[in-house]
Amino acid sequence: MTSVCLVLGDQLSESLTSLKAFNKENDVVLLCEVQEEATYVKHHPKKIAFLFSAMRHFAEHLMQQGFTVRYVKFDDPDNSGSLAGEVRRAIAAIPANKVIVTEPGEYRLLHAFKSWPDTLGIAIDILPDTRFLCGIDKFKHWAKGKKQLRLEFFYREMRKQYSILMEDNGKPTGGKWNFDKENRKPPLKGMASPKRISHNQSAITLAVLKLVHERFHNHFGTLEPFHFAVTREQALQELHHFIDNLLPQFGDYQDAMVVGEPYLYHSLISSYLNAGLLLPLEICLLAEAAYRSGKAPLNATEGFIRQILGWREYVRGIYWLHMPDYAQLNFFDAKRPLPNFYWTADTRLFCLAETIRHTRDHAYSHHIQRLMVTGNFALLAGINITEICEWYLLVYADAYEWVELPNTLGMALFADGGIIASKPYAASGKYIHKMSNFCQYCQYDPMQTLGEKACPFNALYWDFLARHEDKLQTNQRLTFMYAHWHKQTPEQQAAIREQAAFTFQKMDTGNL
Ligand SMILES: Cc1cc2nc3c(=O)[nH]c(=O)nc-3n(C[C@H](O)[C@H](O)[C@H](O)COP(=O)(O)OP(=O)(O)OC[C@H]3O[C@@H](n4cnc5c(N)ncnc54)[C@H](O)[C@@H]3O)c2cc1C
Ligand code: SF4
Repeated sequence: MTSVCLVLGDQLSESLTSLKAFNKENDVVLLCEVQEEATYVKHHPKKIAFLFSAMRHFAEHLMQQGFTVRYVKFDDPDNSGSLAGEVRRAIAAIPANKVIVTEPGEYRLLHAFKSWPDTLGIAIDILPDTRFLCGIDKFKHWAKGKKQLRLEFFYREMRKQYSILMEDNGKPTGGKWNFDKENRKPPLKGMASPKRISHNQSAITLAVLKLVHERFHNHFGTLEPFHFAVTREQALQELHHFIDNLLPQFGDYQDAMVVGEPYLYHSLISSYLNAGLLLPLEICLLAEAAYRSGKAPLNATEGFIRQILGWREYVRGIYWLHMPDYAQLNFFDAKRPLPNFYWTADTRLFCLAETIRHTRDHAYSHHIQRLMVTGNFALLAGINITEICEWYLLVYADAYEWVELPNTLGMALFADGGIIASKPYAASGKYIHKMSNFCQYCQYDPMQTLGEKACPFNALYWDFLARHEDKLQTNQRLTFMYAHWHKQTPEQQAAIREQAAFTFQKMDTGNL
């Protein structure tokens, strides 16, 4: 029996279950750059270039390891443009009688693969993705019977299971599970990103950049300069650079935002991790080793490990637990069209313009910019869930639906009604002022709620709470804010809501 081992663009790991099941005598690995995957949303050109180059390098690596590889380039005249089309062509050409694939990251693809026995007339083995630290079934088992699926409890289980930052007596290292109180410092005056490493562009990358420039120039985002790692070796260099030089400050400035500094002390590994060039366990173990050898403090190490061992695994679990219905949730019935400035950065709200510029130029902005600037605005303004989720899926190099959707729909927009977050991450301009230096460059004043100079986030924040009081008033974490709102006189409340209406009017007419 001969099998086609289909390897997807985000499965570039030698430890992949489908490659482990590969028979070097007969089987053929299939990697293909197809129109359908590059354009089902119009991905950022940097993301397409990163993935095509990483796929081509991975194919070369596999061939050096003795795998037979069928690689279909985007501009191959016979390229059918879809995964199903390429599998069909491969089966006929080899010929083969089975497809082996590791489970995909997106529901859309799993659904398609399951239909292939009928539509392509071929058997398919879908193997689990063991690169994640919590299997889909294991997460379902953990979730069973629980009223609330809070990250904190999931994360503690994961720490225990993998013995990460745990002591011999079964207690967490440092006596606490979470050191967030020591993190979240505002930026220091004049703070700048430490230098990042960059990688020489190979002939493969140069060819891919030319292709992407020609074929995807109408997608949102700038292609060059292009500094991404495209091989596992380069991704490991990025990881080691982060652990050795940046991890010590990661915790302190995790939430800080600075003009012209998209990266600060963040690791920039999500694209590599999500595409399979890095593996989550090796990252956590390396971070823990840095702490144990005195090179990084506990607050930073724990905060970083929580993102990978906790949040990343948790959002994937939530995604597979609730799909496909999850994508349709819209707790606040949000339906205002996505403002055009999400594409142009042409808005007077400096924080939004700056975050969108980072996104456009780097296919990256860090977590707090995604959550508390572009996400917070979309939440407060009630932006259409489908449109904003699509925006997040296409603008970031690390975006795949399994991780993007729970973060956007659940965490940033609270459209799942609290499956992920215990309260909406709604905030006024005062939060952005505290955590960034953006407001210094803005024509608005974060301390004012009313008047021409008032920061639009402020009235929008109170308007959001007032608009959704029926749905949020029983949330105990909002009691204090509602008490504050109800202390305002009816005239004060009306003035704030009028100010918000004025912002909506400007937004709807493209003048914000
Ligand atoms: C609205 C919104 C959309 C997001 N979309 C994506 C996405 O499409 N893809 C994606 O990988 N992350 C997404 N995130 C999570 C997070 O913002 C990114 O993982 C992070 O910014 C990547 O940058 P970094 O590698 O420098 O991360 P660091 O800040 O250095 O964190 C280290 C690693 O932890 C993991 N991590 C941190 N937070 C999360 C999280 N909330 N969920 C999952 N993993 C996390 C990532 O793998 C990240 O590389 C989103 C967050 C929000 C609020
Ligand atoms: S004043 Fe308001 S709109 Fe301007 S940067 Fe600050 S938070 Fe953003």
